[in-house]
Amino acid sequence: MIVSEERIIHGVVASVGMAVGKAVRTFDPLFVSFNFKLRPDQICKEVERFRNSVEKSREQLKRMQAELKRKSGPESSFLIDAHLLVLQDRLFVDRIVEKIESESINAEWAIQQVSDDLFQAYDRLNDEYLRERRGDLDDIVRRLMHNLQSKPLPSFNKLPYDAILVGKLVPPSTLFELRSHRVVGLATETGSPLSHTAIMARSLEIPAIVGAPELAEVASGDLLIVDGERGVVIWSPSDETLAAYKGRDRDGKRLKKKSGASVSSPAVTEDRVQISLGANINFSEEVRSAVTHGCESIGLYRTEFDFFREGKQPDEESLVADYSLVLKSAKGVPVTFRTIDVGIDQRSWDGVNSNLGVRGLRFCLENTDIFKKQLRSLYRASVNGPTRILLPFVSTVDDLDTATQILADVRAELDLRHQPYDRNVPIGVMIETPAAAQTCDLMAPCVDFFCLGTNDLIQYYLVIDRSDQSVVHLYNPFHPAILRCLHQVYTLVRPTGKSVTVCGEMAADLPSAAVLLGLGFTSLSVSLTAYPRIKRMIRSVSMSQLRDLSGQILKMHKPKEVEARVRATVYGT
Ligand code: PEP
Ligand code: MG
Repeated sequence: MIVSEERIIHGVVASVGMAVGKAVRTFDPLFVSFNFKLRPDQICKEVERFRNSVEKSREQLKRMQAELKRKSGPESSFLIDAHLLVLQDRLFVDRIVEKIESESINAEWAIQQVSDDLFQAYDRLNDEYLRERRGDLDDIVRRLMHNLQSKPLPSFNKLPYDAILVGKLVPPSTLFELRSHRVVGLATETGSPLSHTAIMARSLEIPAIVGAPELAEVASGDLLIVDGERGVVIWSPSDETLAAYKGRDRDGKRLKKKSGASVSSPAVTEDRVQISLGANINFSEEVRSAVTHGCESIGLYRTEFDFFREGKQPDEESLVADYSLVLKSAKGVPVTFRTIDVGIDQRSWDGVNSNLGVRGLRFCLENTDIFKKQLRSLYRASVNGPTRILLPFVSTVDDLDTATQILADVRAELDLRHQPYDRNVPIGVMIETPAAAQTCDLMAPCVDFFCLGTNDLIQYYLVIDRSDQSVVHLYNPFHPAILRCLHQVYTLVRPTGKSVTVCGEMAADLPSAAVLLGLGFTSLSVSLTAYPRIKRMIRSVSMSQLRDLSGQILKMHKPKEVEARVRATVYGT
């Protein structure tokens, strides 16, 4: 669609900042396809890349078929035949090769064009059974795309212009894989600011707007402004708008530089209460920057992004090397490694995982070979610096007992192998399920520390899926249920003497962070982007005033009243 007039598309801010660039469309929630022209000398290689992906897909399907035959007999394995047939279909495979060669386009784009034609043909069929076969093609297209993209695509770095990724949904690992100095912004039709994609965008400091369905009309190459302050995307901006935004961008950069200066000052409140302020990171490369910024700890390292980065299981030796490098780069700053958490918007090898299903520790207890491998690697790396292990999504003391036994087994195994490790690595638990919030005092004897995951805790408490934008407006940390829950956690944990660090996004939002301090939490961990502003907030508030505030808001009935009172205290408005 050609738009000549400036148009404002409303969405939700997922990552602040602003970006000007040309849209690069992704077309699928799981796979990113973009269109670029090849040079004549690149065509042969691209055809080979496509054929390799066909071969890889065929091997995977054959393995899957053999497994299906073994487990459930020959009857169900015919399902895979349909997929294998698509891969043998000359109308499909040869047409893709022909497109790459005749139009000099990348394999992903050729696959998409050919499959789009076939999808349309399927949709026109009257026979319901045949129409259903569309799903087989859909599946195979996903598989081919996945296999094509298991390696990063070098050409993306060579984009001739600053790009804003636009799509229905961009998974966090994809955003990470596609990050480059030329990806300046992200705008998605669906998603919420609490999804891992949003968290990833914030980590990468990529301005992002999510939940903007009108973006469906935007085409690759269209000029866009992502405004991560107002929560809008400006499509086809006028020259005046463009000039105004470019001016704001310069001011923003100046401000960022200025705020960086305060980062080395201690995190103490006006009335001299010391607050521990750590950094949340999503991938190993962030450690260096956290240390350079003077962060006193890595309060949360979400290891799943690096773990699943290659699209296949990492081996123990490479994990040991990666974790050792993280600890060496941390230069003595303690690092809290959270064992892999597989959530709804994270990619794993076996597809989508439900928020209420096999997540976090549940996944690890069902896949003990993977869990043990990660634990062995963490212990082995622990000789390189202060290491802490954190277990996510814990909901029962029984699960915790099982995990504790597995940790002991792993240590015994390392003893047998005569492998050195730190036997005093502290073990912690995320309080992020209502069950953990209610029973953290019962869990305390089994753990050394706690981390409070408000992102999940709020979603489970208020029954709001954090990745569903249709309910995002209901997600409210000032809800009396949340305040009471946080107060209860503090009251239950305090007598146990175990520390609690709040590492959910609540700690990164100024008014909510002030509430946490008032409720008694004196250890926070936030993303690097939020670090300077939270430090400034800590230095500008008085703890005794915040304690009074918490006494008042715990008696209030409505989130709006709470928010107004908190804002008045923090901002003096
Ligand atoms: C949380 O749930 O608050 C948390 C920090 O973990 P994640 O955002 O990775 O689920
Ligand atoms: Mg969580």
